[in-house]
Amino acid sequence: MATLLSLSSGFKGDIRLRVVWLMVLLLILHPVLAYWSGHAQDVLPQLTMIAVQGTAVWCVFTRYQRSPPLIRLPWLLLALAALMQVLWAIINLLTTILGDKGGYLTAIGIVFSALYMIPCMFMITRSFGQHEPRSIAMLDLTLSCVVAVLLYRFITQLASGPLASDPSSIYLVIHHADAVDFSLSAMVILRMFGARSFRWRFFYYAASTYLLANAIVAYIYNRLELRGLPWWIGSMVDISYALLMLVTLRQPPRWLRAYHPTLSVSQTIASFAPMILSMMVVMLGISMSRISFLAGLVTACASVLFYGLRVAVIQSQHMDMQRAVDQSAWRLEQQVGRDPLTGIANRAALDTRLHEALEDGRRSGGYCSLLMIDIDFFKQYNDSLGHVAGDACLVKVACALSSSQLRPGDLVARYGGEEFVVVLANTPVETALEVARRLMASIERLQIVHASCPQGRITVSIGIGTQTANMRADALTLLEEADRALYAAKSSGRNCVVVASETTRTLPSSSGEWKANDGASI
Ligand code: GH3
Ligand code: MG
Ligand code: MG
Repeated sequence: MATLLSLSSGFKGDIRLRVVWLMVLLLILHPVLAYWSGHAQDVLPQLTMIAVQGTAVWCVFTRYQRSPPLIRLPWLLLALAALMQVLWAIINLLTTILGDKGGYLTAIGIVFSALYMIPCMFMITRSFGQHEPRSIAMLDLTLSCVVAVLLYRFITQLASGPLASDPSSIYLVIHHADAVDFSLSAMVILRMFGARSFRWRFFYYAASTYLLANAIVAYIYNRLELRGLPWWIGSMVDISYALLMLVTLRQPPRWLRAYHPTLSVSQTIASFAPMILSMMVVMLGISMSRISFLAGLVTACASVLFYGLRVAVIQSQHMDMQRAVDQSAWRLEQQVGRDPLTGIANRAALDTRLHEALEDGRRSGGYCSLLMIDIDFFKQYNDSLGHVAGDACLVKVACALSSSQLRPGDLVARYGGEEFVVVLANTPVETALEVARRLMASIERLQIVHASCPQGRITVSIGIGTQTANMRADALTLLEEADRALYAAKSSGRNCVVVASETTRTLPSSSGEWKANDGASI
């Protein structure tokens, strides 16, 4: 009792102690009453057994009430499973008191024994994950109900139908009960070893203690029942409930806390768990075929169908999730390489593309040109109309530049501020000049009014840097060259193009004519 006092379970100490004393009292009283009456099935021993079972159910139910929301449902299912057994025991007691002429009470008892399967199956197969679709829960519940109905039909057919006179029928029922009970306990033990959270491990530990003890007790009970029940048999039934009460009240064992399954072990076990449900239906289907071949066949097929449906629903959910992940990765990729204001490529994307274009040019012995574009007198534009209008102007210019029929390999990027860069892969300087002229024309077509500009509208200056077969440049050198050319364009009056390599040729707006940097026409 001293160890029981050191329990910690969310139960108040004095209540816990009272429950433990009550259980000890009932456990002693039960065999005494059974011995005194000389029969395990007498009213008083049965009443004591029901009290033992009821106390254990109360303990599990209290656990359910005091558990965090995520783990409450499994505790409730365990309490419900134990409650079905209590109701079954109450029906047996009523049979003793009232008799059972029409066999109705026996039938109700079998209903409760079959109903016991539903919460057990449900707590074993469910992953209880927050993201599991509702349709999966509905499928599992339906299949658990199918198992319960089949079990009921199977037992009633064998116990009260024309097959009841066949002695092998009773063994068949017993063997099935054993198969179901031990499969359930094996599965719940497996789930305990697959649970990554300690709270879940503890739940499965309590459930497996109860289900395994129940399976062993039922195994012995059913065999002894064939030879007439001894007076002490009821006390044996008490064992699983006393154990259930103990595990729910006591501090969990240390190894349970220390044990941690790997993620792959945990996932494999959780994915395997629903198999047991389908396997049981197949098993029952095969057994049912002894009574009705068609019913057995339909049952086995339904099980396969249910399992297939379950897998299909999960797979489709995974595909949806994968699609969402792909989309967000794509969006992220886009955002990383995009300028947030204008939506065109940013500096990072420019660097990558420029390196690629230069590398391509080097390999093919071709060219790579770079246009550095700067809006003229943009500071004044901002100063007179405000930064919001300035931003809108930048967006329009970016849009005009990027929709100027460039080739797929070319790239328009925002270099920073009101400066843009165009990478023209495999493009000689002559073509680059043509492109620059086209770009200037498209900016001109925007007709963005700018009073401080000599032209009365927004214009740009462009510097061109080119890598040729004779003059190989790296990205930085090319940017510097284009920048120098842009500076020259600004110095020579703006609204023109300057080529860096020669730094002599300048191009005015599309309406103007070519001029040398020193002012001479070319
Ligand atoms: P220049 O013709 O010599 O290029 O003269 P400028 O006024 O265009 O050049 P300057 O470098 O003096 O000014 C650039 C201006 O661009 C300063 C800054 O207010 C503006 N700017 C830079 N980035 C942004 C932006 O993202 N939005 C807005 N609205 N303005 C910007
Ligand atoms: Mg600038
Ligand atoms: Mg400028």
